[in-house]
Amino acid sequence: MAKQPMLKFVTVERDMPEKRGAEDRRQDFHEIYAEFADAKAKEQAGRCSQCGVPYCQSHCPLHNNIPDWLRLTAEGRLKEAYEISQLTNTFPEICGRICPQDRLCEGNCVIEQSGHGTVTIGAVEKYITDTAWEEGWVETIKPSVERVESVGIIGAGPGGLAAADVLRRAGVQVTVYDRYDRGGGLLTYGIPGFKLEKDVVMRRVEQLEQGGVKFVLNCDVGTDISFDEIRKKHNALLIATGVYKSRDLGGPGAGAKGIVRAIDYLTASNRVCFGDQVPEYESGELNAAGKRIVVVGGGDTAMDCVRTAIRQGAKSVTCLYRRDRENMPGSQREVANAEEEGVKFEWLSAPVGFVGDPVTAVKVQKMRLGAPDATGRQSPEPIEGAVEDAPADLVIKALGFEPEDLPSLWNQKELEVTRWGTIKAEFTTGQTAMEGVFAVGDIVRGASLVVWAIRDGRDSAAAILNYLNGATAVAAE
Ligand SMILES: Cc1cc2nc3c(=O)[nH]c(=O)nc-3n(C[C@H](O)[C@H](O)[C@H](O)COP(=O)(O)OP(=O)(O)OC[C@H]3O[C@@H](n4cnc5c(N)ncnc54)[C@H](O)[C@@H]3O)c2cc1C
Ligand code: SF4
Repeated sequence: MAKQPMLKFVTVERDMPEKRGAEDRRQDFHEIYAEFADAKAKEQAGRCSQCGVPYCQSHCPLHNNIPDWLRLTAEGRLKEAYEISQLTNTFPEICGRICPQDRLCEGNCVIEQSGHGTVTIGAVEKYITDTAWEEGWVETIKPSVERVESVGIIGAGPGGLAAADVLRRAGVQVTVYDRYDRGGGLLTYGIPGFKLEKDVVMRRVEQLEQGGVKFVLNCDVGTDISFDEIRKKHNALLIATGVYKSRDLGGPGAGAKGIVRAIDYLTASNRVCFGDQVPEYESGELNAAGKRIVVVGGGDTAMDCVRTAIRQGAKSVTCLYRRDRENMPGSQREVANAEEEGVKFEWLSAPVGFVGDPVTAVKVQKMRLGAPDATGRQSPEPIEGAVEDAPADLVIKALGFEPEDLPSLWNQKELEVTRWGTIKAEFTTGQTAMEGVFAVGDIVRGASLVVWAIRDGRDSAAAILNYLNGATAVAAE
């Protein structure tokens, strides 16, 4: 009888792919985890307990068939594992790299709850699809029929690209418009290479292009082409524009030179990694080399900024966050990585003003956690008289993002938005208040996650296909 390959969690310890040493990773923008070796991937996949009701699957936004592809990996049937994995996820190797697994699939792994350490689901998912690319199993998109209808997608981030993939496979003519010069959205210009190397994103954009998706880049909808014009060109439209309005800092001196937005800083750094000429980087305006850096914020964007500054050769990097470590929104894994790389965290610290122009220091108000608010979260409150100067040559504001005012920018009063400015869209379809116009990703949810954008894109593409089929049926009557 064949040996049982699964349920090894009692005898085999949890093991992640090797992590590069902190000193080594400070020197470049390459990813910090190596790939599993084949035997290691099999061994780690074999730790899965094959639950009848897999909580990992129900807590994955894509409901990936995790136990099935873990079993196939443990049995050495990698091609089948890949086929199952790509049925539910458009970009499994991207999610395997950057999903906050501790809050999603791995955080709900039953063997973790029994004290054995979670199955390394993300690392195996990445391994399966990276292998599929290497082995040539990832095929060009070839629709079996070509349809006449066309769909315009505004935004080439993960939400827009996931929808483009589903629609194109169904034979629809798809055009993706983006104001950037490359596709990928925040996968390309937000998230740094040490979390997600850029060739991983670019090969997906190329796969879509080779499959017949048209990209119209350097095209800002609302400036280079109007929303009405695009709407006239296509049978349906999908808005997947993300959220880009940065929350700002107030206080005396907040307008000084040397205080910059996280998105500008990260975009410049990602462009430099592509080999682009970036004048703001070369002039030092968006370059941390040799400087004392203060990053304000406690989310994943702040973590990406501090770790980018380390790699650019900053003299010192400090992160200010107004709550404590336990209450920060960013992933604990990323904080630990940042600390290993030399970032100093100042918890319970909020900026209240700035010294100098160009800036030379941040006035830091020390805080304490007060009574819980309506959500049960303790609110930070200032400690009277506890203000000190933190020296800084470059201050990076990473306080989160809000939607731009699309109805005004695009002159579309019919496009309904919530009181937060996100587009009002039906939960499972993305249908907006406008006929034939759908919306997905961060512009609907507010700043969220890549895996949710992919889920929305796939769901909405299915709804758009229904919409197109309905319109075709009516036309034929
Ligand atoms: C620094 C940073 C780090 C992050 N790290 C992670 C992480 O580790 N894991 C994770 O899961 N999530 C992470 N996120 C969140 C994640 O990137 C987003 O939730 C996700 O990219 C949203 O996808 P989207 O398709 O809705 O929008 P986006 O990725 O923002 O793409 C929107 C696209 O629309 C284009 N666009 C906008 N307006 C127009 C217009 N008027 N005309 C034409 N094009 C337009 C933009 O240029 C962009 O390419 C991070 C976010 C940031 C900012
Ligand atoms: S997509 Fe994300 S949440 Fe789902 S299995 Fe993969 S890593 Fe886990």
